[in-house]
Amino acid sequence: MISLKQLTKVYGRGPDAVTVLDRLDVEVASGEILAVVGPSGAGKSTLAQCINLLERPTSGQVVVNGEDLSGLPEHRLRVARRRIGTVFQSASLLSRRTAAENVALPLEYLGVTPAEAKARVAELLERVGLSHRAHHYPFELSGGQRQRVGIARALALRPSVLLSDEATSGLDPETTRSVVSLLRQLRDDLDLAVVFITHEMDTVLHVADSAARLDRGRIVEQGRLVDLLTDH
Ligand code: ADP
Ligand code: ADP
Repeated sequence: MISLKQLTKVYGRGPDAVTVLDRLDVEVASGEILAVVGPSGAGKSTLAQCINLLERPTSGQVVVNGEDLSGLPEHRLRVARRRIGTVFQSASLLSRRTAAENVALPLEYLGVTPAEAKARVAELLERVGLSHRAHHYPFELSGGQRQRVGIARALALRPSVLLSDEATSGLDPETTRSVVSLLRQLRDDLDLAVVFITHEMDTVLHVADSAARLDRGRIVEQGRLVDLLTDH
């Protein structure tokens, strides 16, 4: 599970200081999908970067499975990052690598043996329903298939948290539905805590168990999706 405790990010100093995230308290249990929605400028990208430890919060904590990762020294961050897999908008695959080679990337960096990596990649591609596309290049894949490869890559290091950063933005509704249903399947099969960041309210209705609405760096509404829906 992941919890954000009083997570705050301030850019700049003194009179130029801008508070982009203001004391966010959020908790996502294993086996749960939390959607974070908000308009452009709300702080979603900054939040994503704090969660995947690319940015350090100004104050507050990012706690994964009981350990505060936000305060770790630089040399321990590399290992800590394995606990969080990130799926990016438009998948961000390497174009000169096949689907299988893209999924293998995080394993290569880790120095996993080729035989082990091969078995792991085959398993991951099967999980996302793409075994038959293993040796295709990104340009030979549909948008939804590319995103599935991105999801498999994000899972390569067996994270406990999956961060989806606008992963379905730009996909057509049908493809979005299939990616969302895969995420829900993975949430169940792998007991993942999924943080699903999006500006698309419609998608939230299909994907999430609970939702938090971010506006100008603050959470203005948070709860089980059913409760949020009946309020309006
Ligand atoms: P979103 O992803 O929801 O559009 P962002 O996290 O990109 O929101 O940005 C939230 C706010 O923080 C914006 O007003 C943006 O201008 C500001 N911001 C983002 N990054 C920086 C930075 N490095 N320095 C100063 N302000 C920033
Ligand atoms: P590095 O792993 O050295 O930070 P990149 O940032 O280029 O290298 O990551 C390459 C890909 O590996 C990313 O797109 C990401 O999906 C995946 N990846 C990186 N770190 C992790 C992690 N902790 N868990 C799962 N996947 C990861």
